Amino acid sequence: MAIVISGISLPFQEPPETAVERAKKQIGAHVISAAIEKRSVDARRKKDIRFVYSVRLDVSGDEEKLIKGLTNAGIARDFVNPDFKGASTKNKKPVIAGFGPAGMFAALTLARAGLEPVVIERGAPIDERVRDVLAFAKTGRLNAESNIQFGEGGAGAFSDGKLTTRTNDARQAFVLNELVKHGAPKEILTQAKPHIGTDLLRGIVKSIREEIRYLGGEVHFHTRLDDIAFINGAVSAVMTTRGEIKSPSLILAPGHSAREIFQMLLKRGAQLAPKPFSAGLRIEHLQSEVDKALYGGFAVHALLPEAEYQHSLRLGDRAVYTFCMCPGGVVVPAASEDCGVVTNGMSDYARSGKNANSALVVSISTKDFDGIFGGIELQRKLEHAAFLQGGGYAAPVQDTRSFLNGKPGFISGGVVPSYLPGVVPGDFTGIFPRHITEALKQGIAAFDRKQAGFAAPGGVLTGVETRTSSPVRILRGENLQAVGLQGIYPCGEGAGYAGGIMSAAVDGIKCAGALANR
Ligand SMILES: Cc1cc2nc3c(=O)[nH]c(=O)nc-3n(C[C@H](O)[C@H](O)[C@H](O)COP(=O)(O)OP(=O)(O)OC[C@H]3O[C@@H](n4cnc5c(N)ncnc54)[C@H](O)[C@@H]3O)c2cc1C
Repeated sequence: MAIVISGISLPFQEPPETAVERAKKQIGAHVISAAIEKRSVDARRKKDIRFVYSVRLDVSGDEEKLIKGLTNAGIARDFVNPDFKGASTKNKKPVIAGFGPAGMFAALTLARAGLEPVVIERGAPIDERVRDVLAFAKTGRLNAESNIQFGEGGAGAFSDGKLTTRTNDARQAFVLNELVKHGAPKEILTQAKPHIGTDLLRGIVKSIREEIRYLGGEVHFHTRLDDIAFINGAVSAVMTTRGEIKSPSLILAPGHSAREIFQMLLKRGAQLAPKPFSAGLRIEHLQSEVDKALYGGFAVHALLPEAEYQHSLRLGDRAVYTFCMCPGGVVVPAASEDCGVVTNGMSDYARSGKNANSALVVSISTKDFDGIFGGIELQRKLEHAAFLQGGGYAAPVQDTRSFLNGKPGFISGGVVPSYLPGVVPGDFTGIFPRHITEALKQGIAAFDRKQAGFAAPGGVLTGVETRTSSPVRILRGENLQAVGLQGIYPCGEGAGYAGGIMSAAVDGIKCAGALANR
């Protein structure tokens, strides 16, 4: 029996024990034990930066009575440990296509239920994949099957490893606990904005894979799902680059960059719908400038984490916003198809790099393109235009001042662009339609009013950022199976049901549950 006292705001220099004592005092003698549940930073007033704590109290007695009249207290929502002991053995050996967060958590859940999942992943195991990604950054030669989008760990394996999500699901605590069991730092359990970092994610991903294998599951790399066979509308087998696998069930978790899967599914009778997404650029500043803007005189205080920001501005029926901020990170080459440049961002756990970056993007609605695949075509068009400007996989780059003044090129002297395999002076007005560049300009100006230095002349804009979310959704019914196709569970970000590492992992667990109890 536990309750949570939240909103305990203290100057950040105060020790966390003060928050624990305050919470205990509110409840009195009924407290058995107490611990910090979550901590967030409140930097709205630079002269009075605070940590805001929630404290969990294990109590004796009736929780409802204990919290009566307290506006900052609630009963603890304990996480649900997915338990599929009653899982039907006739659902044994389901196939899972894709080993990103969605596929990984689906496989882990099914393996624990004794259902021995068979994972097929088109890309390489993580160590080999790291070599492929480094080779691309160094030589500009893309491996279209093993890159920042494809391979063990999925898109999230080269990232800042942020684990925040706008959704609220009890399974999130389960995901965090599993990540800690497999090697993530314990702090992620109490941070309001937890992150893991690319360096630590590698070990975690391997450890999850080994548990799945230990429990009787299989994980096959360099094995791409190419087609699906059906008998009377129900899946009977999957065709892969390494032959056929018979199975009556398939969790389809290929991420948003497996574009050919959508075409195949349409041919096989799935119902697909176009989906809004966003496109734009990566913006880089010096992390020290972001710290100064957000923390003022406390910018270099050892107790404060690297400062993070998130801004948005509505412009009629469009929005321009920042997301996926990577403090102390680098801009990475996230292409997965020949002749296209794609940017994204990543950081290590320490977030100790010189630059901060974030995506600066404009919303694109389904009215901006035609047909189910119009969004993919638009992404491709932008990625190819950037490739042409860069003369290969080097990315076009502009300094913020030139971009705002409508002048092509890059004046160096400010922030040093971090993108590899390199950058070339570009002109984003030659890549994006006018309404996007105008919205980006308005966004930069507005965000500068909220965060001094956001529009500083020496900032760097690198592009293009197009793989923000899936431009297509695979429709699924109440039972989480694809509408019209029995036995297929579209899952995670590619299917259109998640928008980040945490929500993809949660969707993986949901799909695993639906399959196990089928
Ligand atoms: C560089 C980068 C940084 C990011 N940073 C963050 C972050 O900090 N926080 C956050 O929440 N999100 C972040 N994201 C987004 C996040 O990674 C995705 O939302 C998440 O990984 C989606 O999970 P998923 O399992 O649905 O798909 P994915 O992670 O895309 O995994 C899909 C997997 O399926 C495989 N696959 C594709 N096609 C096939 C096929 N035909 N057969 C077999 N396998 C196939 C792919 O190789 C891939 O491994 C980042 C993304 C990138 C690229």
